[in-house]
Parts: sequence; structure tokens; C-alpha cells
Amino acid sequence: MRLVDTHTHLDFPSFDSDRASLLAHAQARGVERAVVLGVYQANWQRVWGLALEDARLYAALGLHPVYLADHRPEHLRALHHWLERLAGHPKLCALGEFGLDYYVKDLDRDAQQALFEAQLALAAEFDLPVLLHVRHAHAATIATLKRYKLARRGIIHAFAGSYEEAREYIKLGFYLGLGGAPTWPQALRLHKVLPRLPLEHVVLETDSPDMAPAMYPGMRNSPVHLPEICQALAGLMAVDPAELARVSTQNAEALFGW
Ligand SMILES: [Zn+2]
Repeated sequence: MRLVDTHTHLDFPSFDSDRASLLAHAQARGVERAVVLGVYQANWQRVWGLALEDARLYAALGLHPVYLADHRPEHLRALHHWLERLAGHPKLCALGEFGLDYYVKDLDRDAQQALFEAQLALAAEFDLPVLLHVRHAHAATIATLKRYKLARRGIIHAFAGSYEEAREYIKLGFYLGLGGAPTWPQALRLHKVLPRLPLEHVVLETDSPDMAPAMYPGMRNSPVHLPEICQALAGLMAVDPAELARVSTQNAEALFGW
């Protein structure tokens, strides 16, 4: 089984003591590559450093909506500079993590929308796929993506929407990122949606250290768990785990141009 973890935060301090051994363990289990996503200007250097240090890691940089209060207009300009400097570098695989979050209270929606669109424009300018965080904001995200029509498309990370929303993203050529969330027994809506998703639009992720799967409740999540997550998701989707691994890996490689 060969897998790609399309969404991690392996730069977080909770991995400082064992990052290298954990990546070796994940690789031994078939997880060949992982994407580490920057979420605010202050962590981009760290994310980029990790991607350069380790052949298995790739970087994406972005301004996450949950950290709206920390972002400054000059951080968007800094992002533009980073993208200019790294244009064409094989270790920069996408723009992200960014998007819209209507779940967290007190995050100004107009400010989020402006930041979202500024980064979509950067993705178009630098011809990069986008890795999107979308919580309780699918309608606004879909309407915005229809206006931007990004050539490289992207991933709706930790997709937890309805089948109708999934279909809109698929029409736009997007992939749906699936991880630990659907493995929980209480994720009833996702259990109904998953078997209806075309494998050609699914990629896998852990969102490490978050989103622990039901098999490891409350534990630090890591790419080491991706094969078991794949196994559990395949069960929910009524497909062969080897087939889910094969197609999702092929999808990730096509998206990132690997
Ligand atoms: Zn994330």
C-alpha cells in the first residue's frame, strides 16, 4: 500500500521529539509523502525548512481563517514574495491552508472573504493548487470558487459536507480530503455520503496532530495512522482498501504534479 498524507501540521512542537523516527515508521508502512501546511506568516519558515530537510515532506503556505486576528496586510505581501522566490521549486506543492470558517464565532466574514479571495488570486497568479479549510461555509466557498475557476484546482480538506456539496466541488474539479473524522460512529451523515463519492475525487489525510481516528481516541494523530484510516474509510465506502490507496495516491500525485 502506497499512500500520500495530503494534510499535516508536522511542524507543531508535539512532533519535535520524534519527527524523524515517526516519518521513517510511516514510510515503512507505505506513507511515502506528506504535505505540511503553513497557517500564518510566523510558521512559514519552519514549514519550509522541514520540507527542505526531509525528502518525504512537501510544503504549502497560507493564511488560515482561524488565525484571522494575527494576519496583517503585510503578511499577504510577504506571501506574494515567498511565492515569487519559490516559484517552480519542487518542494512547494500548493497554496494553503486557507479558506472560510463560519463555525468559529467572532471571525469577521467579510474579512475572511477578502483574505480567501486574495489567496485564490495568488494561486491563479502562481499556478498552484489550493488546500482549503471549509467549515460551515460550503455555499460561500462554492460560489467563490465558481468565480475563480482555478486551473490547478485543489483539495477541500477534512470534507464533512453533504453529497450535494461534494458534487459541486467535483464539478469544479476539486478533490475531497478524507481522514479520521468519518471513522467515528457518530459521523452518521458522512457514513451516508462516503459510499457515493467517486474514488477519482478522493484524497487521504491525517490532519496530524489533530483529528485522531476512532481507533486512537484522544491520541496525537500522525501519518503512521494513515494505513489504518485508509482501511476504515474503505470499509465505509464499500471498496477494497488497496483500491482506495491506489486511486487516492494517484489523485494526489496528479494534483501536485509528482
Ligand atoms: Zn490543517
